[in-house]
Amino acid sequence: MLTGIVGINWGDEGKGRMVDLLSVDYDVVCRYQGGNNAGHTVVNDKGKFVLNLLPSGILRDDTVNVMGPGMVIDLKHLCGEISRLTEKGVKVTPENLKISDKATICMPYHVLLDCLEEDRLADKKFGSTRRGIAPVYADKYMKKTLRMGDLLHFDALKDRLDGIVEWKNLTVVGGYKAEPIRTEDMLEWLKTYGLPFKDFICDTTDYLEEAVKNGKSIMFEAQLGALRDIDFGIYPYTSSSSTIAAYATIGAGIPGRRLDEVIGIMKAYSTCVGEGPFTCEMFGEEAEALRSAGGEYGAATGRPRRVGGFDVVASRYGIMAQGATSIALTKLDVLSYMKKIPVCVAYEVNGVRTEKFPHGVELAQAKPVYEYLDGWNCDISGARKLSDLPENAVKYVQYIEKATGAPIKYISVGADRESYVKVF
Ligand code: GDP
Ligand code: MG
Repeated sequence: MLTGIVGINWGDEGKGRMVDLLSVDYDVVCRYQGGNNAGHTVVNDKGKFVLNLLPSGILRDDTVNVMGPGMVIDLKHLCGEISRLTEKGVKVTPENLKISDKATICMPYHVLLDCLEEDRLADKKFGSTRRGIAPVYADKYMKKTLRMGDLLHFDALKDRLDGIVEWKNLTVVGGYKAEPIRTEDMLEWLKTYGLPFKDFICDTTDYLEEAVKNGKSIMFEAQLGALRDIDFGIYPYTSSSSTIAAYATIGAGIPGRRLDEVIGIMKAYSTCVGEGPFTCEMFGEEAEALRSAGGEYGAATGRPRRVGGFDVVASRYGIMAQGATSIALTKLDVLSYMKKIPVCVAYEVNGVRTEKFPHGVELAQAKPVYEYLDGWNCDISGARKLSDLPENAVKYVQYIEKATGAPIKYISVGADRESYVKVF
């Protein structure tokens, strides 16, 4: 079974939480794109964890985790992430973590360039996580990055690095007038934070192909939500990588394989970190109430998230882009305080009602059209089966299911692993 766990919205839907829950039935969990711009929170019997680079399967003792060729890896960050886990008793070894030799290394100068550019843009900034993601993917497509496999041939790496640093300084020094990058510093950084991973680096294509042939089940964990996809998202306020399920097997290293199942993780309301159009955005006290009820502060950056009601137009588009075969609806419990729950059912673009998700200038001009559903006003976090939910909560779920057209298989009512309802 090859299953994608992907985000339907703007990210932070609870992908890590659902991977942690559902990975019990899987042998392997792969991350296939992005870097430490992702922040996946997991709360289980081992504690609370925020994973940026590591697949969320790392918390299960018998699961093998793969970081695929589509990823960009900040080695220093990975070292820190692993030591935070090992301090809490989680084991991370070459047996349970396989890092692709083709994954790209995100270097300190990528982070530097990300910050320099956001600072230069000032009030026109993109809302980058400042973790070097756009610069490193840009360099990847310029064919001027180092890959994890290069760490296994350190002498050859030095020569290539020299040329890359010379080229980078054209921008760093010539463009931004910043201090030059020095090859020696970069080599030292690679030695300190890269060489410890020598035994983790392998050909994940070989590993995963073998796993498929042996009937193993594999889960693919997306980094961000559909609306952040570089091609299909709210460009240019997207990430620089592919967040959609169709990319999962490519980014993990088995491009010839197809997913059997795509579980879309969809939040019962909307949140968005960073800049860009967010049609259903709430403001003022209404926003503050939802933000604090949902604890909506970025897992990777701590930034307060923008919040809004559930957006049918954007979610239906996300479901289509992901090819979701079923849905896990998360954070339903957060809405328990609302008397009337706003749902954005359509957009108005230049005075014309539309149910189709627009792009570019039209998206920026879109205004939300709301309907209001009755709230339930009681604690639902203890619900474990559909009949435990109050009637209005069930009606809300059914409304969303009908409006978006995808079957809701799980309803999450709390951050803990066991706080969920399986619908079918
Ligand atoms: P991800 O990036 O998609 O993995 O999601 P994040 O971890 O960034 O954000 C989801 C947040 O909601 C985390 O703090 C989770 O612990 C929390 N969470 C997940 N599911 C639920 C839920 O059903 N109810 C509540 N109250 N919190 C949840
Ligand atoms: Mg997140």
